[in-house]
Amino acid sequence: MAHPELAPYLSGNAQWAHQTAAADPTFLPQLATGQAPTVLWIGCADSRVPESVIMQRKPGDVFVHVTHSCQFQAEDDSANAVLNYGVLHLGATHVAIVGHTACGGCNAAFAAPRDGAAPGNHLGRFLAPLIALRHSLPDTATADDLVRANVAEGVKNAVASETIQTAWAQGKKVYVHGWLYDLKTGLLQDLHYSQGPQ
Ligand SMILES: [Zn+2]
Repeated sequence: MAHPELAPYLSGNAQWAHQTAAADPTFLPQLATGQAPTVLWIGCADSRVPESVIMQRKPGDVFVHVTHSCQFQAEDDSANAVLNYGVLHLGATHVAIVGHTACGGCNAAFAAPRDGAAPGNHLGRFLAPLIALRHSLPDTATADDLVRANVAEGVKNAVASETIQTAWAQGKKVYVHGWLYDLKTGLLQDLHYSQGPQ
């Protein structure tokens, strides 16, 4: 094999597929006919926050979009496309914006000077709003305060989005939540930022 470090990834998948089919032969063929996830998870790309693993969910349970540093930016077409499809087409009724402790992106933004990261590269441009958010916080704020503020900002942007406003105008019972995942304990915490239809 050209890249032996990949062997456990592929053999792990083969083993998982075999065990899943053995446990319930109808499960995977049924999934292949469609999906109706209840939850749309918008989280961080961080490898330590695998949403379905930490919530003990199965394939089909969670529609997922991850971004760098768990930002849900108002002008992000990719994130908004997932929100649109997940809520208006698949019928997800709970959108969870999920930050996590010790987030590398939030730590970088927390340490960045007020004038922001180097312009002209993707990472710098994407981090700019997070750096601005960091400098809107009090001097006593910690990096994890920035994580929570970033989740609050994501909830605000998701609520203001065309998708959520359309869903509510159509009378859909769709809710947007803010959650925090603690890497040290493995626990998800509801930050009580939830908003729903009036
Ligand atoms: Zn992160």
